[in-house]
Formats: sequence, structure tokens, C-alpha cells
Amino acid sequence: MIKPDAVEAGHIGAILEKINASGFKIVAMKLTQLSQRDAETFYAVHKERPFFGELVEFMTRGPIVAAVLEKENAVEDFRTLIGATNPADAAEGTIRKMYAKSVGENAVHGSDSDENAEIESNFHFAGREQF
Ligand code: GDP
Repeated sequence: MIKPDAVEAGHIGAILEKINASGFKIVAMKLTQLSQRDAETFYAVHKERPFFGELVEFMTRGPIVAAVLEKENAVEDFRTLIGATNPADAAEGTIRKMYAKSVGENAVHGSDSDENAEIESNFHFAGREQF
């Protein structure tokens, strides 16, 4: 996902260009907005965290881009491309270093395993109401 902060700031094009230049193939993509229920479902793993409310509010405040990417070793390579969760810790040249504002508003999401990539792809493209 390209998160609301990066969409608001007009970074969709630059981020997609970087994704393409890094060898990922975009196989599905849409601009959409998450409802409160969608965001709570998507980030359910974090529901006990103190920042959960802030995270849901942030993720629902404007449109996001949801995309499914294909590449050998995609999960690990995409996590490398986006950089650390906190942009202050992200390596030079990573998407979060270039476009993220803070640990919360950090421009992009990447799945953390093949299993979650499949779940999250289905969430966005097979119908969020089923989740
Ligand atoms: P990721 O896999 O790198 O996205 O990081 P996590 O799975 O740990 O966290 C999920 C998302 O929750 C992050 O991308 C941030 O948007 C948000 N988040 C993580 N830590 C914090 C925090 O301390 N404060 C706030 N407001 N949001 C956070």
C-alpha cells in the first residue's frame, strides 16, 4: 500500500517509478479508501498496541493505493526497498527515507511474509467485506 500521507503529498508516481525500477511487476492496483472496519481488520495484529487508534485514524483519513507486486524474493526485497518502519532508521535511498514523515506516517506498507502477502492481496482484491 501507498499510505494516505504519501498519496496526499503527491508521491504516488515517484513511488511507483521506484517500485518498477527495482524490478517489481505490478499485477493489480487501485486507488481506494479504507473504512474504519477495514483498517481495524488489516492491522488487527496491532490491536493491543498503544498506537492502534492513531494508526486506524491515519490509515482511514484519505485514499491509499493498494497494489499486488510480483518478483523473485518479493517480500524480502520489497521490505529492503521500503526501509525501516521509522524513517529516521531507514537506509538512504529507501522509500521511507525519501517520503515518510514519521514512524506512524511512513508512506508505504509491505507484507512481511508470503502468507500475509496472499491474505493482504485477497483483502484488497477479493473483497474486504469477507474479512
Ligand atoms: P512495518 O511492518 O514496517 O509497517 O511495521 P509494523 O508492522 O511494526 O507496524 C505497522 C504500522 O504501524 C507501521 O508501518 C506504522 O504505520 C504504524 N506504527 C508502528 N509503530 C508506531 C508507533 O510507535 N506510533 C504510531 N503512531 N504508529 C506506529
